[in-house]
Amino acid sequence: MSERTGCRTTTTAAPAEPEVAAVLSGALTDSSTLSRDGVLTLLQAGPAETQALFAAADLVRGRNLGGEVHLRGIIEFSNCCVNNCRYCGLRRDNGKVARYRLEPAEILAAAREAAALGVQTIVLQSGEDPCYTADMLAGIIQRLKEELAVAVTLSVGDRSKDDYRLLRRAGADRYLLKHETAAPGLFARLRPGTTLTGRLKHLHWLKELGYQVGSGNMVGLPGQTLSILAEDIMLLKELGVEMAGIGPFIPHPDTPLAGHPAGDLDLTLKALAVTRLLLPQTHLPATTALGSIHPDGRRRGLLCGANVIMPNVTPLAYRARYQIYPGKTGLHTPPLESVNAAKTLIQSLDRQVGAGYGHACAVKPGTNKKCRLDGPGERAPGGRENL
Ligand code: SF4
Repeated sequence: MSERTGCRTTTTAAPAEPEVAAVLSGALTDSSTLSRDGVLTLLQAGPAETQALFAAADLVRGRNLGGEVHLRGIIEFSNCCVNNCRYCGLRRDNGKVARYRLEPAEILAAAREAAALGVQTIVLQSGEDPCYTADMLAGIIQRLKEELAVAVTLSVGDRSKDDYRLLRRAGADRYLLKHETAAPGLFARLRPGTTLTGRLKHLHWLKELGYQVGSGNMVGLPGQTLSILAEDIMLLKELGVEMAGIGPFIPHPDTPLAGHPAGDLDLTLKALAVTRLLLPQTHLPATTALGSIHPDGRRRGLLCGANVIMPNVTPLAYRARYQIYPGKTGLHTPPLESVNAAKTLIQSLDRQVGAGYGHACAVKPGTNKKCRLDGPGERAPGGRENL
């Protein structure tokens, strides 16, 4: 087998069928036995063993999280960014992007529409845009909590620890901050001016402040090998994330990585399935990127470990301007249709739309240990006292 997810290729032998079966059997009995080498073995599995991997991931998802699929409504409120990530269509140097910023009133209106459709989590996502100060964001979060009683997830990039604290005090429940790649050199090349160490520091702060923390990575980044991908997955466990987004790299034509091949659908699904085996109770979305590289991508994600869908509820007028990668699905789909399509997909799999907020539980870094939260105002344990 060629160990190639992006540009670099090294040759490795595909593991023998009994080897894959032994790793799967061990992981099904006790997920804590799944080592980095075991993860690599599963990522290298051949076609027949891959079906067994997907079935095992689906079994683990069912055992630990049941049939619920949680809906998280994303509002992409600003496509302005101070960073210049080489893979991202919103990068600072991309002069072809028509930049926008939603007013707080527009954000609230979009959230109201989503809440009226039964969406109980609002994800506020943007580029790294300092024009939205922590005070401004805190004001928006407070209004969301008071008026709509929704759970709030933030995905607004690197901020100071004081900002994170303020936003948490304002009521933010969760924070998504992808590590993208666990290889320090690759990280520094792909995200100029930033370091993996810096990103990990931010993730630790978020954890310390009691957020439910999400991270994640891309599959098929130029320069990524299967060994690096195994490290990406192991890092999720080391961090003790409560959520993890794993999606394919999709090259954007207006970035320095234009022309590189996109990440492979099957390898992305394998990475998702292995993550489910490693982290049985962590929330894993069937990502929009998965649905963008293949029309059946999200359904297949739900069948190999995923338990979350994130319908886009950004006002239609702005949708097409928020393209980290091209060909994003749902650019012209109104919130009502986005949410209904997600519900129809969930029901077609004999699963149920998640009731309640679908909070994740606090995970101790390096373990799979969690505790259950189930009230409307619940917080990740350990959060309040650290504020
Ligand atoms: S990936 Fe995020 S931080 Fe990097 S350029 Fe794109 S929006 Fe900005």
